[in-house]
Amino acid sequence: MSTPKQDERASPAAPQDFDAAALRKRYQIERDKRLREDGNEQYVEVKGKFARYLVDPYVEREERQSIDEEMDVLVIGGGFGGLQMGARLRQAGVKDLRIVEKGGDFGGTWYWNRYPGAQCDVESYIYLPLLEDVGYMPREKYSFAAEILEYSSRLGRHFDLYGGAIFQTEVKGMLWDEPSRRWIVTTDRGDHLRARFVAMANGPLNRPKLPGIPGIENFKGHTFHTSRWDYEYTGGGPLGGLDRLHDKRVAVIGTGATAIQCVPFVGETAKHLYVFQRTPSSVDVRGNAPTDPRWAESLAPGWQKRRMENFNNLVSGVPQDEDLVDDGWTDLVGKMLRRFKEATARGAPNVAEIMEMANFEKMNEIRARVDSLVEDPAVAEKLKPYYQMFCKRPTFNDDFLPTFNRPNVDLVDTDGKGVDRITETGLVVAGIEYEVDCIIFATGFEVGTGYARRAGYEITGRGGRTLSEKWSEGMSTLHGMQSHGFPNCFLMHMNQAAFTANFPHLLDELTTHLAFIIGHALECGAATVEVEPEAEKAWVQTILEKANGMMGPGGPNCTPGYYNNEGKSPGAAALQGAPYGGGSIAFFELLEAWRSEGSFEGLVFETE
Ligand code: NDP
Repeated sequence: MSTPKQDERASPAAPQDFDAAALRKRYQIERDKRLREDGNEQYVEVKGKFARYLVDPYVEREERQSIDEEMDVLVIGGGFGGLQMGARLRQAGVKDLRIVEKGGDFGGTWYWNRYPGAQCDVESYIYLPLLEDVGYMPREKYSFAAEILEYSSRLGRHFDLYGGAIFQTEVKGMLWDEPSRRWIVTTDRGDHLRARFVAMANGPLNRPKLPGIPGIENFKGHTFHTSRWDYEYTGGGPLGGLDRLHDKRVAVIGTGATAIQCVPFVGETAKHLYVFQRTPSSVDVRGNAPTDPRWAESLAPGWQKRRMENFNNLVSGVPQDEDLVDDGWTDLVGKMLRRFKEATARGAPNVAEIMEMANFEKMNEIRARVDSLVEDPAVAEKLKPYYQMFCKRPTFNDDFLPTFNRPNVDLVDTDGKGVDRITETGLVVAGIEYEVDCIIFATGFEVGTGYARRAGYEITGRGGRTLSEKWSEGMSTLHGMQSHGFPNCFLMHMNQAAFTANFPHLLDELTTHLAFIIGHALECGAATVEVEPEAEKAWVQTILEKANGMMGPGGPNCTPGYYNNEGKSPGAAALQGAPYGGGSIAFFELLEAWRSEGSFEGLVFETE
């Protein structure tokens, strides 16, 4: 693979170099082209005849006896959320703790996503949680998946979580048993787990989805989803060398963050690779580098939290004296702040215009980068994203774009429409059939579907009422984490909580908060802790008042994708599940103030 270049970002287009009105129009045209009536319904749910896409290719399933046991705390999910929850609970003195996890080990998204080139896009020094507690320093600025998976295991060992782990097990139901004041959690292994408290760390992107392309079930060749990479078929491993593809014609469907990372490796060895593109990603500089040991030694205690906050402030548009991470995520904000300073010096700054101009400037750089790395101008043009940065998840890679210079690689651009049809032998776009031996679905994960569908189980609370029933008219919680009628049950997600570009940062704040509540409940011998209906109502009201019409970072005028509910208005019920509109910084401050105040306002603790 080529060596990452340190700063191709430094080719700024001058502000006067572009026609803002023309760009605005082009963005609109590209967006409109991609809007579709079926929104989230366009995707195929991975179940029934598609269930094989969920099978774990990494670890053999081990048979075991069912578990019938009682415990203080059960955590569902052993990814970063579950690990951070486990760590914080251990720090709060919780001993009787179990973690149930679908995969064969800890790691969550990093357990499943082992495709070649998988790597964190957010700087490892702020992405890998609890580095100072564990005493670990990542090897590179952006860690590869194998290191992150190994680190997950290290977290498990450090916080003594393996003893309580129940792997290769899927939760199938959760029922509140009033007489015993326990959650009865059932699994696909016939387990009967009776927990005083349940914390749910199911993860935001855990259920793979397939594109609803007509004929998808007819293809006679090999297929798999990137989150279950089939190394048996491709050969090689996460670092590449896919030597069994030498005689294979391969299709990759999708050009999101996953495809950007794995395409260079498939292109390197496949006899022929066709990359089917619906919308180009913005692909910025990776600029990976080994960790400088002198820098690591120079860090003062508390450095990780400060670095996480510095990054979060910058990507939230809050000026900082220093940009500690200094990468493609913070670069746009730097541009905004510079323009803001210039405009202030000239007179009255127009913030909305400054943000738009800085965004144009940033995306012009991204488009110029395509020209500088892709030799054929016609191919380069097709690879250029025409939308605002943060409409879609930005990506960072130094090898994806040059892959299209290879004679064995073709970009099949579908002009925003997607693949028309799949036949027994290939894929059809604009009347041309591309015959292939294998289709790799780099088509992402379910986001906008119902809670129970994504989690794979229903939660039945007091009086036999399910969470889906309660939330049918809109989500209702205090701080996104607790819901009345579901005592001792704790949720971890961004809904009615906060959005952060660095997801483990959000998890750190949520798990700190939940460990505080659970720790207190155990300490004072409370049988239940539950939200007061008034407190919940008030929080929902706050969410609605501060809602800005969005579910995530992408606005309604953005090109469709999972950041903006595929471009469709989410509807009032879904909007109620938006993250706190005041932003993550204010949300974290609010949680901290709530804990400092000390009265557990809005919660009722009941003893046996
Ligand atoms: P995405 O949802 O981002 O991408 C799916 C891709 O499939 C898109 O390019 C989409 O096009 C395309 N697609 C969907 N349907 C069709 C169709 N019918 N025909 C052709 N193309 C189609 O999934 P990813 O797995 O790439 O990424 C998901 C998320 O996972 C990321 O956004 C990121 O948050 C996370 N991730 C993080 C990484 C990290 O480094 N930390 C690495 C990889 C992923 P369109 O854009 O038009 O919808």
